[in-house]
Amino acid sequence: MPARSWDAEVDVLVIGGGCGGMSAAVEASAAEADVLVVERSGAIGGASAMAGGLIYMGGGTPVQKACGFEDSAEEMYKYLVAATSPGADLAKIEAYCEGSLDHFDWLVRCGVPFKSSFYSGMLSEPPGDDGLMYSGGENAYPFNEIARPAPRGHVPQMPGADKVIGERGSGWMLMKSLGEVAARQGVKTQCDTRANELVVDGDGRVIGAVVRSFGTDSVIKARRGVVLSGGGFAFNDDMLALHAPRMLGHSKVGTDHDDGKTIRLGQSVGAAVKHMDATTAYAALPPLLVRSIIVNASGSRFINEDQYFGRVGEAAFYREEGEAYLVFDEEGFESVPPEEIWGQRPTWVCETIAELETEMGVPAGALEVTVDFFNRHAEHGEDPLFHRDAKWLRPMRSPFGAIDLRQKPGPTSPEHRDGPGYSYSFFTLGGLHTSPEGRVLNTSGEPIPGLFAAGRTTSGLPAGGYASGCSIGDGTFFGRRAGGSAARST
Ligand SMILES: Cc1cc2nc3c(=O)[nH]c(=O)nc-3n(C[C@H](O)[C@H](O)[C@H](O)COP(=O)(O)OP(=O)(O)OC[C@H]3O[C@@H](n4cnc5c(N)ncnc54)[C@H](O)[C@@H]3O)c2cc1C
Repeated sequence: MPARSWDAEVDVLVIGGGCGGMSAAVEASAAEADVLVVERSGAIGGASAMAGGLIYMGGGTPVQKACGFEDSAEEMYKYLVAATSPGADLAKIEAYCEGSLDHFDWLVRCGVPFKSSFYSGMLSEPPGDDGLMYSGGENAYPFNEIARPAPRGHVPQMPGADKVIGERGSGWMLMKSLGEVAARQGVKTQCDTRANELVVDGDGRVIGAVVRSFGTDSVIKARRGVVLSGGGFAFNDDMLALHAPRMLGHSKVGTDHDDGKTIRLGQSVGAAVKHMDATTAYAALPPLLVRSIIVNASGSRFINEDQYFGRVGEAAFYREEGEAYLVFDEEGFESVPPEEIWGQRPTWVCETIAELETEMGVPAGALEVTVDFFNRHAEHGEDPLFHRDAKWLRPMRSPFGAIDLRQKPGPTSPEHRDGPGYSYSFFTLGGLHTSPEGRVLNTSGEPIPGLFAAGRTTSGLPAGGYASGCSIGDGTFFGRRAGGSAARST
């Protein structure tokens, strides 16, 4: 847009007050920059504040050590490369692993509390206030053979009584701390303000943005840089149709402000995008998953069920086209602690596998072969096909049940996940192509002067696979780098 008069001036303008934006703001203000965060909602927080709050960190953090786990940056690197391939961003992973201990210390200095206790349960986040858990299948095949297993899901401490899973948990605690430290450092926050346009000078440098608040536009000059951090694009069907069409119609994880606006702002000034088809895909709750076998439309298993539940979901969704079923016996179903079953009910219950496969519509005899083979080896604590850990192996016995996990396009909100089919739920992982320093790159791989980005507006650590904690992990880690780079930019 052509130059115009400015309504306000700052050194660094941050667009979006989630974990990426607030980490950028804290680091930019620590580097003596005058920082303004514009946030579209009535308060900062975004999806980050709704999250379970797991932060992927390792290399021997004080919490890992206190809980008795050995780890190193090298083992963490080996795991992350394997877990996020194909398409793993090696430069980002290297920076992330080398900087992980420093990042933990930074979060602690920001007032984020971590309790040195290990959660060994199977839920996707600790129900209480434990501070550490396995969050990416590090201790399951094949990752336990690729890198020395260590739990790296660090969970900000939130008193159990104050926690409401999916509404107010450790992510809320993280954002509370980042918001407080930002305010103490003099970061200004302007809520109910949406960035709609970037301002570029004659040399192609991004020098500000047009923002709208209560129907009025104003133009804010950013003397050193603009940081884009408005989340992902799971709630923009047009962008999904363009980049990740398989996700259309499925449940989404995030807020409806994940409309890809800040990705499109970057694209409007020539930014490249990366891994736009990458998404998470969750299908089944881990406490029942590890007590079941998961089978495809041919009645065959396709992954070890003790693997990270997100990876199982990705395998079911991407490799099996969502045609998957959980098969269990009564003993397995009943052994899930009641508070961990979350209302899941069998779609079918039958005395024999032959009856069950008929109900499921699986080819006659196929599931019988699968269960016979599984049982024969489970008897000896073995799973020659997928190497599920012996502690989760036991022959299944009548009566049997199954849950239909087949994709069910249509309703998109979580409350529609019950009924005969389960939608897969997801959030997007692709976004603006950035350097490990948080600079936004153009289609030639060159930095766009004055433009920085972080969080799910960017393509970060996860690409061809995900581990819980990687989104807030890379949002905060590379958010700091984006904010610091912007503050130093002239
Ligand atoms: C229930 C739940 C549980 C989760 N659990 C985990 C977990 O344990 N660990 C993990 O790593 N990830 C988890 N995730 C995913 C993770 O929370 C998000 O991917 C991550 O927080 C995204 O951070 P962000 O800063 O990029 O975006 P957000 O936190 O969403 O922040 C973006 C902000 O930008 C604002 N915004 C958008 N557009 C504009 C605009 N044009 N102008 C101004 N403001 C704008 C939005 O209103 C929002 O406040 C979970 C998500 C949910 C919903």
